[in-house]
Amino acid sequence: MSTAALPEALGAAARQFVAGPESGHGLLIGSQRIAAADGATFQTLDPSNGMPIATVAQAGPHDVDRAVAVAREAFQSGPWATMPALERGRLIGALADAVAEHAEELAQIESLDNGKPVKLAQFVDVAGTVAHLRYFAGWPTKIEGAVLPVMAPNMHCYTRREPVGVCAQIVPWNFPLLMAAWKIAPALAAGCTIVLKPAEQTPLSALRLGELALEVGFPPGVLNVLTGDGATGAALVEHPDVDKVAFTGSTAVGREIGGKAGAALKRVTLELGGKSPNIILPDADVEAAAKGAFQAIYFNSGQACNAGSRLFVPAERFEEVTGVLAERAAKARLGAGLDPETQLGPLVSAEQQQRVLAYIESGLQEGASLLTGGEAALGESGGYFVAPTLFASTSDELRICREEIFGPVLVATPYDTLEEVARRANDSDYGLAAGVWTRDLGSAHRLAAMLRAGSVYVNCWAASDPAAPFGGFKASGVGREHGHVGLDSYLETKTVWAAL
Ligand code: NAP
Ligand code: MG
Repeated sequence: MSTAALPEALGAAARQFVAGPESGHGLLIGSQRIAAADGATFQTLDPSNGMPIATVAQAGPHDVDRAVAVAREAFQSGPWATMPALERGRLIGALADAVAEHAEELAQIESLDNGKPVKLAQFVDVAGTVAHLRYFAGWPTKIEGAVLPVMAPNMHCYTRREPVGVCAQIVPWNFPLLMAAWKIAPALAAGCTIVLKPAEQTPLSALRLGELALEVGFPPGVLNVLTGDGATGAALVEHPDVDKVAFTGSTAVGREIGGKAGAALKRVTLELGGKSPNIILPDADVEAAAKGAFQAIYFNSGQACNAGSRLFVPAERFEEVTGVLAERAAKARLGAGLDPETQLGPLVSAEQQQRVLAYIESGLQEGASLLTGGEAALGESGGYFVAPTLFASTSDELRICREEIFGPVLVATPYDTLEEVARRANDSDYGLAAGVWTRDLGSAHRLAAMLRAGSVYVNCWAASDPAAPFGGFKASGVGREHGHVGLDSYLETKTVWAAL
């Protein structure tokens, strides 16, 4: 692929990687980057102008078979199977160091492929990836069983914690590298092997991560990367030799994967969508709350599973708060991710832009009041921009109040009492996150207990740490990532009974 079309802002290392070989980017199976068995490819685009940036292999069923077989082989024999825990941890730490050394390159690749501002890519995606790998690098040496005080005399009973096996890990396009890190770090710490499938919109950073893992010395076959589409993901989920499926993405696909994993009795964790309520209490610092509400929804152009997409404002402060927010939204600088001045990048694809615009249209038709935005932006660029949009609504029943939009669209609604707002906030199929803005400790913790959500943020939004569990109640998912709980989902417990 010629590099002529690549933007000037791309540095030399990212440029060289993205340009790739003449034949396009191969799959990563074992130690090799190879073409798909049937030669199929697809193109990944720059969402800020719609231009192709690279040609990538499209994995089909043969490639899935091959990658799973290589992962099985690496799991059962070879250096990974017998590697001491300390060495496993050292390798994960070495991968963290390599990601840190390639931070600028990876941030640029991510910004180009996904469209997000390059600073965001560097300080959130790449920095978060390094943090996750470092945190899980410390775990292998702390995975311990126990000796159990059983009733039978002369019986030695103990537990072993063993890796689940071959893991299919399927990630979305909103935080491609970071979502891959959230998945691979605990799996590697547990001693599993992996076939990772990035989203078709953003295949590049996962391939680079896989290359870096080989460069720092991971045995071939431990981390395989299959680029492709939903059919590739489905073939992985259905493969009989996959022991566990870990998925982040839409609730619709999550339900399908959960059903298949259930029928096959595979281990499964699902991080799905959200429609997260953000609640401003009457005593809140309005400036801080409005700034927080802005970040909660417009960060990453609204393409975050835990976006604060429903804003509850005390009736008596409604105009003040929405006024501040609308003004901020109208001033936000939209542009290409690689432009250092950009605050909000494009949406990831034309399809996502159309989805979001269709939701905006439904909001208008169902009677919401448009306070700012409400249309595509920077049309002359050829990119997939949507102006940050704010609606006001007194009803919670509109589609824009109930369905995940996954774009820069916020709906503000007024409320009167704490009990009322807790009930309305919980009236959702989803339960991923919720926020509370207040200076009153009592109300903060009362609401935190009342809200049915996997994460509650008090006077902040989307705080995150590799040690702190993340995941959803209700239709927002099954299981948790990060921390001990995240590691546990990659381990089986074996009980050994030895009569002495
Ligand atoms: P999606 O279809 O759920 O995609 C997520 C991942 O699953 C991608 O890697 C995708 O591959 C793969 N996939 C798709 N169909 C599959 C199947 N049947 N079996 C196994 N894997 C499959 O999400 P999307 O279509 O990109 O986005 C649609 C909506 O999902 C968004 O508007 C948003 O509401 C939601 N979403 C949520 C999150 C989140 O973090 N919770 C992330 C992204 C999207 P391909 O992309 O290559 O087809
Ligand atoms: Mg792309």
